[in-house]
Order: sequence, then C-alpha cells, then structure tokens
Amino acid sequence: MPVIPAQAEGDRHGPSRGAPVFVARGLCKSYGAGDAAVHALRDLDLDIAVGEFVVLLGPSGSGKSTLLNILGGLDAPTAGRAAWRDHELAGADEAALTVYRREHVGFVFQFYNLIPSLTARENVALVAEIARRPMRPEEALGMVGLSHRLDRFPGQLSGGEQQRVAVARAIVKRPDALLCDEPTGALDAETGRLVLAAIARANREVGATTVVITHNTAIAGMADRVLRMAGGRVVAAEANPRRRAPEELAW
Ligand code: ADP
Repeated sequence: MPVIPAQAEGDRHGPSRGAPVFVARGLCKSYGAGDAAVHALRDLDLDIAVGEFVVLLGPSGSGKSTLLNILGGLDAPTAGRAAWRDHELAGADEAALTVYRREHVGFVFQFYNLIPSLTARENVALVAEIARRPMRPEEALGMVGLSHRLDRFPGQLSGGEQQRVAVARAIVKRPDALLCDEPTGALDAETGRLVLAAIARANREVGATTVVITHNTAIAGMADRVLRMAGGRVVAAEANPRRRAPEELAW
C-alpha cells in the first residue's frame, strides 16, 4: 500500500500543527463526463494534523461534502492522492474502505439517521458491538450530556438531543477521525451550541482529528484552523490564536 510522505511544513495553505494524518495532493473529483462534467474538486492539496479541529467553510457547491466524503472513505477521487496515515484512500477497493471507515472514522450528518425502534443506548450500542476498542455506550452518551436519556427512543427526544445521540454513536468507537457535515444545520442556535460542545469534547477527550463543515461562520471560532473552499479548492486557511468554547459563539 503506497504511503504519501508527510511534508515537514504542512501544505501551501499554511502550516498545521504536528504530524499530518490526512494528506491530499492534487485531489480531483468530477461527476459526469465531457461538457456535462461537474468538477467538484480541482487539484486540491491539504494536510490535517493529528488531533486538529478544522472547520471547512465555503459556499454551497464549493466541494466541502465531496472532500469530507473522500476523507471518510465514502467516495473515491477521480485523480490525485488522499491518505489517512498509511491508508491510501484513492484507488482503495470497497472492502478496504469499509474496514477503514469502521475502524477509524465517525460521521455526523445534518440529519441524525437514528433507528427509531431502538433507544438512545441501543443506537449507540449497535456501533460499539462492531468496534475494536469501544467505550461503553453509557460513557459515550455521558460525554454528550445525555446520561438522563439513555432509554428514550428517538421520537421522545428533541432534535438537538437526537443529534447528540448521533455524536455519541460516532465517538463510541473512539474514532481517529470525526467528520461532521453541517451538524447544526437543522438546529436553532442554543441547541446547536450543545451539539458543538459535544463535538468539541469528543475532539479533546477522544483525541479525534475533527473536521466540521458549516455554512455558519460563527462556528469557525471553535477551530484550530479554518479552511475556506471555493470552486473545488482550498482558497484560504487561517489558524485561530485561541479556540473559542461553543458557549462563546453568537449567531
Ligand atoms: P458543498 O458541500 O460545498 O455544497 P458538494 O461537495 O456537495 O459541495 O458539491 C460540489 C459540486 O459537485 C456541486 O456542483 C454539486 O452539484 C456536485 N455534485 C456533488 N455530488 C454529486 C453527484 N453525486 N452527482 C453529480 N454532481 C454532484
């Protein structure tokens, strides 16, 4: 399995702290062919450091979800290279990507996708059962502030609580990477901050390298580094001198 050499100084969009765990070089993703082709990613370079909290901003259609899906092994690039440590993601077959996702990645999407006939604890336990070194479902639900909701069904929980169950489900396997696509997109500000607090805690306590896609520029304050995408490329990167707590964010 080819390994992309780690660069000493991060990518051309500014240094990232520590050794890179995600590395992309010349990453391209196109949908369709010929004149009708949509170029979702165009020659994108990226390094993300171990344990880093990255917020991805950018207009709709700029390629954020496509990038996240490739980093998470849900989708394959058309050209270029992408790797998670020594896992080459470009060109990996479906079986290898499945193992990569199962062992290393936790996902949180805008819509929670919980199983309605299972309680919060059972939804989280389902993932714990197939993980190599999971925490207990109760511990994961405690980390997101839901110790008092273990036996509720999704239909008995608010939207924000359901999303926190989804965060617990993503972190129960102690993932190396926590990838979140618009995790607060369907929530009001107060509820959204609780979900972000759960994600920040998971980043801190599980040590998961975290990428959060958002339209909401206020959320950028939580990040170690903010990457702005446009037209399928990273066009700017800024490091925050200080990470803000979700409670400090106003929108
Ligand atoms: P963002 O997350 O920034 O909104 P996306 O990564 O979802 O951007 O999309 C980037 C571009 O790729 C858009 O033009 C979008 O329409 C296109 N695209 C994404 N997924 C598909 C697909 N499955 N088939 C065709 N085009 C797609």
